[in-house]
Amino acid sequence: MDDRQFRNAMGTFATGVTVITTEVEGEVHGMTANAFMSVSLNPKLVVISIGDKARILNKIKQSKTFSVNILAENQQEISMIFAGQLKEHRGVVFDRLAGQPVVSGALAQVTCEVSSEYVEGDHTLFIGKVTEINLEDGDPLLFYKGRYRSLQEEATVASK
Ligand code: FAD
Repeated sequence: MDDRQFRNAMGTFATGVTVITTEVEGEVHGMTANAFMSVSLNPKLVVISIGDKARILNKIKQSKTFSVNILAENQQEISMIFAGQLKEHRGVVFDRLAGQPVVSGALAQVTCEVSSEYVEGDHTLFIGKVTEINLEDGDPLLFYKGRYRSLQEEATVASK
């Protein structure tokens, strides 16, 4: 089985888009990620999966904390910035939640403490114990088959 076939198959799983943020010695680092899942209600746990080449990997290992920011439909540019797809930009404003940096305007900001980590193949899974949540109204940014989408766009396609 080749890599393209695996990527294409995984790309048929439509997801939202998050930016994972963490902070080490006063420096905030962010990375776009859609490998995110809720794990447990009691205690409240989530999981993220970070590639072994991502610079944020060692930063989360150091800080032992991360935030998951679920992006709104108007935040495609933010996603592209933190995926390294947009080099020229105005800069990003971070809010603070429970003392941790979070992305302004995200639909949900979820701060976590790392409760465990597992190296699996070329990724590391971090289980995060949720410490605080902030929720905003709005529609999500979506990612499907390698493209950004919006619920509005899908509704237009469906009504044609
Ligand atoms: P870097 O290359 O260090 O940073 C990424 C970009 O963010 C750089 O351009 C950097 O300038 C910018 N940036 C970082 N911090 C700041 C800051 N404080 N202010 C302004 N800009 C900043 N990879 C995974 O490992 N797991 C996933 O689940 C995952 N899902 C993805 C989903 C989507 C939709 C996309 C598009 C990509 C995904 N990726 C995922 C790939 C990942 O986002 C990129 O490979 C990323 O560039 C690697 O992160 P890094 O820590 O090495 O980031």
